[in-house]
Amino acid sequence: MEILRSSSLYETEPVGVQDQPLFLNAVVQLSTEYSPQDLLAVLQSIEKRMGRQRTWRWGPRCIDLDLLLYDNKLIDQPDLIVPHPELADRAFVLVPLVEIAPSVVHPQRGKSMAELLACTGDTKRVWRYRPRGKSEHD
Ligand code: AMP
Repeated sequence: MEILRSSSLYETEPVGVQDQPLFLNAVVQLSTEYSPQDLLAVLQSIEKRMGRQRTWRWGPRCIDLDLLLYDNKLIDQPDLIVPHPELADRAFVLVPLVEIAPSVVHPQRGKSMAELLACTGDTKRVWRYRPRGKSEHD
């Protein structure tokens, strides 16, 4: 498995429960021989090794790895939905996706990531994270 491209880190406003710290989000593009199911299992084992503990839905977590897209595949299984069902509705996913893959087309919506971001109704703020304690909203 090889990382081909990775986005910047973004600081993002929490969704759902407001009274919690900001989140950090990023996306990566991978080249892999793993099937989607096997890739999901790899992501889940990384989460486990990093000590992810579930709090509440939308609550703080040390890591959350999601499979957003896999080529043009459409998968609808009990434990795996691809494209990720919230991809098109979340600015914190679309902003980093547009940074590394603006013209990739969502296989269900028929729109590019840049087009999806332009028409998303999600008004949550997403800032490029600046290490050394400063981010764009400071
Ligand atoms: P969460 O960790 O809250 O993102 O949710 C993880 C659950 O969502 C797991 O039970 C997965 O089987 C399921 N799931 C369904 N589709 C996906 C996907 N595209 N990426 C990651 N998890 C998924």
